[in-house]
Amino acid sequence: MLSLTADNVRMQATARTKDEALLVLSEILHADGLTQLDYLQGLKDRENQSSTYLGQGIAIPHGTPKSRSSILQTGVRLVHFPDGVVWNDAGDVVYLAVVIAAQSDEHLQILQSLTRALGDDISEQIRDAKTADDIVNALVTKSSLLLQDNLIKTDSAASQIDELYLQGLTLLKSQGMITSLLMPAHQPTALSHAMHCVVLENPAVKESAMALIANAREALAVISATPSIDRAKLSWLLDALIDENLIQALQTGNRTAVHNLLGIESQADWPSESVVLMNEHGLHARPATALSDLAKLVAGEIKVAVDDGAFVSAKSLTRLLSLGAQKGQTLTFIGETNTDAVAHLPKLIAAVQAGLGENVQAARTVTNPLQVMPSQDIIAYGTKTPAVSASHGLAVGEAYTPKVERLSYPLTGQLPSEEMSKLIAAINAVKFDLKGLVASATNADIAQIFTAHIALLEDEEVVYGAKDGIDEGQSAPAAWHAFIEQLAKTQASLNNALMAERAQDLRDVGTKVMYKLLGKIPPSAPDNPYVLIKEDLVPSDVASLDPARVAGIITAVGGASSHSAIVARALGIPALVGAGQGVLSIDNGTPVLLDGGEGWFVVEPSQTLIQDCQQAQIERREQKRLALQYASEPAITTDGHQIEIAANIGNVSDTANAVANGAEGVGLLRTELVFMSHSQVPDVKTQIADYEQVFDALDGRPLVVRLLDIGGDKALPYLPMPSEENPFLGLRGVRLLLSRPEFLRDQLTALILASKGRDLRIMFPMIGRIEEWRAARAILDEVLVEHPHDKLQVGIMLEVPSAAVMADQLAREVDFFSVGTNDLTQYVLAIDRGHPLLSKDADGLHPSILRLISMTVEAAHKHGKWVGVCGELASDPKAVPILLGLGVDELSMSGSSIALTKALVRTLSFRAAQNLATRALECQTASEVRALSMDGDA
Ligand code: PEP
Ligand code: MG
Repeated sequence: MLSLTADNVRMQATARTKDEALLVLSEILHADGLTQLDYLQGLKDRENQSSTYLGQGIAIPHGTPKSRSSILQTGVRLVHFPDGVVWNDAGDVVYLAVVIAAQSDEHLQILQSLTRALGDDISEQIRDAKTADDIVNALVTKSSLLLQDNLIKTDSAASQIDELYLQGLTLLKSQGMITSLLMPAHQPTALSHAMHCVVLENPAVKESAMALIANAREALAVISATPSIDRAKLSWLLDALIDENLIQALQTGNRTAVHNLLGIESQADWPSESVVLMNEHGLHARPATALSDLAKLVAGEIKVAVDDGAFVSAKSLTRLLSLGAQKGQTLTFIGETNTDAVAHLPKLIAAVQAGLGENVQAARTVTNPLQVMPSQDIIAYGTKTPAVSASHGLAVGEAYTPKVERLSYPLTGQLPSEEMSKLIAAINAVKFDLKGLVASATNADIAQIFTAHIALLEDEEVVYGAKDGIDEGQSAPAAWHAFIEQLAKTQASLNNALMAERAQDLRDVGTKVMYKLLGKIPPSAPDNPYVLIKEDLVPSDVASLDPARVAGIITAVGGASSHSAIVARALGIPALVGAGQGVLSIDNGTPVLLDGGEGWFVVEPSQTLIQDCQQAQIERREQKRLALQYASEPAITTDGHQIEIAANIGNVSDTANAVANGAEGVGLLRTELVFMSHSQVPDVKTQIADYEQVFDALDGRPLVVRLLDIGGDKALPYLPMPSEENPFLGLRGVRLLLSRPEFLRDQLTALILASKGRDLRIMFPMIGRIEEWRAARAILDEVLVEHPHDKLQVGIMLEVPSAAVMADQLAREVDFFSVGTNDLTQYVLAIDRGHPLLSKDADGLHPSILRLISMTVEAAHKHGKWVGVCGELASDPKAVPILLGLGVDELSMSGSSIALTKALVRTLSFRAAQNLATRALECQTASEVRALSMDGDA
């Protein structure tokens, strides 16, 4: 372990020369079992490259990369030479040698903590140290209380304290102040009417600091406190937070005022330039020395920050080292205005690009398009940052993050009757606009969302909800805002994803009415194609987007199978989700390139990268064009194995399009979506008309229908559901159907009558236990007595792990299984598929899921039954060969993926796919599975 503790200190060492000192150090490392004796040569070679003198009487000798083979165990020793040793030609004298034996770059960590201490003058303390504790006390950073501009967010879209808290934690984590987001729940203390505060004191806190998050109404200070926090500063800060001027400055987004009130130094106006650091081992001593030497050539101040971190002087070697900058991170330099420092910035950038004396690969020419940087909350400009692929396609455009506008209006109104008329007029105007949007919507999902918004504004409780406030003398906007906010909060607190989404819808329509009431036009997005960047997406967001202007979408949170990702796919806008909070700090107008299929984005991409990607996109389009020519041909591997490719639809009118795209049938008709297009429960006759439309368009091809899958995150507006603690584990799918058998009977009857003997395959959603299957099947048998069907197949969705484990038993009774990998993954990995932070880790290629699919296929085939996959995994190009190799008989996916998937299957050999699948089953992680290739390489 590398730690600056008293155990690692050795006092009273003596040496007349640096060579003697290095010998002493190597003997100490050897005696402590950290290195072999020949590590001495590594120490000498490193000193010959350049002196490791750090400043303040301290040197940090360490070996060369070549000498790492002599290291037995990573460690550090702090050796005190009270008489001093001359360390370099400049005559600097070392009193403390921090000798490091590190296998990789762990020493950067030590440098970081060491050099923070070097900001103070500690050379005499070090020289005169009498005990090991004296040394450690001089070195260990005195924990102050950091107040930084990049820990302040003034225009948060969060409306609840919980959300402000999460944003505060995320900021603190992104700046390394805390190590985990998983903090015990804290009840904020109200410091004033609009200022709340939470103090975190636990082992995950690394630095004392404050994140301050404000929305238009209130603010939350999240303070991370180490045991050695500067208490006096904390008490001053708590007073400062109560200041009304600060609250006002936060609410109006006046950052300069916020800085002044909190004493934060701001260099916001200094000219800046950024560059990505590409040195293999980061900004370690040698390149840092070159950089500080270069910065010292000018009189003006030059500061530098890593990613969004705090600025330090670029002239100070110790400060530079304290940044701990790693390869791939962005260095931003700022030069003091009106000094020679400004003209010097390009030279610093060029020097960093040239490697500061080391060989580096240019940052902005990424040659391997598949190589991505690890996921992080901090975004490196100019390089690829991975995110979860939500909707395929390449997009380039300027970044646009919608800001919440602060609306002002009088709190008190005129005559209540006049205020009420204004409100009704505004509501009617919004309804009129919405009806126009429904009429012009080209996509049924979008039309459905706006129809739901109209329904909200037709609800008497909503329309007259603000009446009480108006009658008490409030103005129409004040009463309306208060009412909608209250209603949305109640919805959101129901702890149900769908209700939370409805809360979002309420706020959406509520805001539209506010703008109408105030006669204002809502802020509009740029005219040029833009990349929309948001914390999260609600379906109504996606619905209001114009695909002609929205080139792409990136969200900070979310997973590939969240319903908004599904709608983004339906709209055909390239989208990434789960990209991390860092994306929210990308400035509006910054160019962004994203690949929704490969799952990465680049902020400020080079022209070369844009051109390479556009070329690749042209090739992909050409591939798709070619694939479409053969879309109606079957998907048969090079060695003659056929897999059926079908379509997932949620709207009966999409069937013909799916067939035109090559669907050999419908593999999943999500009937709850069909139900959602009606404003009340569709009766048997209405349902028959819907299903007939699908059968007719299929023209004899099979139709796999999933019976109503309500519950979890899906509800029907006209089917009230009890609030549940864990809706995904509650009354969902077949459980709900069995509790409402009249629904089930009607749907079964409608399906059988609509089919008129055609190829109908019915499946029950979310079967977990054989009893559920048998109970549901019994109701079907009753319906079949009255309405017999010769060709009917009856199967189940395989989404609950217990069904996969019991597949050999179920296979005796069902005709088929269709694996819903979206839910199966959430239940197997215990990750809520819509969880804002976790769902990006819900990868259906996790070996545990593959093993369950493999068991299911084996069990089904033993009994002569077939297995399909209809979750999002079915069209993932990485998954297709593996699912094929596992023996899956059918893949069902969105219509737009069918032609390319068929083309992909035609290039594969079934034998090779089987081999690939066998290797995938042996992997330990989803990323290992994703790294496998058909030709046998990992
Ligand atoms: C699934 O869970 O994989 C699935 C196809 O169903 P849905 O996404 O509609 O829950
Ligand atoms: Mg499902």
